[in-house]
Amino acid sequence: MSLFGTASGISGSIEVVCGPMFSGKTEELIRRVKRAQIARLKVQIFKPAIDNRYHETEVVSHSALSTPAIAVGSSIEILQKVFDSTRVVAIDEVQFFDENISIVVEKLARRGVRVIVAGLDQDFMGKPFGPMAALLAIADNVNKIHAICTVCGAPATKTFRKDPKESAQVLVGEMDLYEARCRSHADFFGEDQDQLAFFVNLNSTSDKNQNL
Ligand code: ADP
Ligand code: MG
Repeated sequence: MSLFGTASGISGSIEVVCGPMFSGKTEELIRRVKRAQIARLKVQIFKPAIDNRYHETEVVSHSALSTPAIAVGSSIEILQKVFDSTRVVAIDEVQFFDENISIVVEKLARRGVRVIVAGLDQDFMGKPFGPMAALLAIADNVNKIHAICTVCGAPATKTFRKDPKESAQVLVGEMDLYEARCRSHADFFGEDQDQLAFFVNLNSTSDKNQNL
């Protein structure tokens, strides 16, 4: 049932599939779900209600693979909707959930459920997206997958928002709004302010040290 068997054979686990948009996270989630279904394990698939780009009650990849899913408004709703008989829980677009998703996922794993989550590790500014940093930390297994940079064809780890005027972290969209980019082609509208402040501090500290 899980990647991590125990002597008793019953062990939950937490698997994270992450990467930028178009990297194949949903394809990979569906692949794992299909294999669990072939093994005749009871699987439930969830997605955040906010993500209704393709379908209200299906998870759909950019390559048009799909599987039925339950749309939920909060992470606690997942706990309420998982049956005792469910052995595998898959959650797509997990970055859109609230912070309680880590607690929910841990609780399910403790019950012996194999939990597979897929989500964007970084937002359009290259910062950790919502609950993803916490999920990556508690995971038993992490796969960081790459898309293809739309500029140069190199492996892409970043999601580039085409319109620099849109500043909200959550802005659900597709190729109209986003592109996969490698690090060198994902200059997020110049150096960010936190980094600039850091280097200004660093320089003033080293200036002081030189005066000692
Ligand atoms: P994700 O869930 O990570 O956004 P999907 O699993 O929905 O990705 O879609 C992956 C598919 O997207 C690929 O198999 C490919 O057909 C398509 N695709 C479109 N643009 C790109 C790109 N820039 N890099 C890689 N795949 C892309
Ligand atoms: Mg996806």
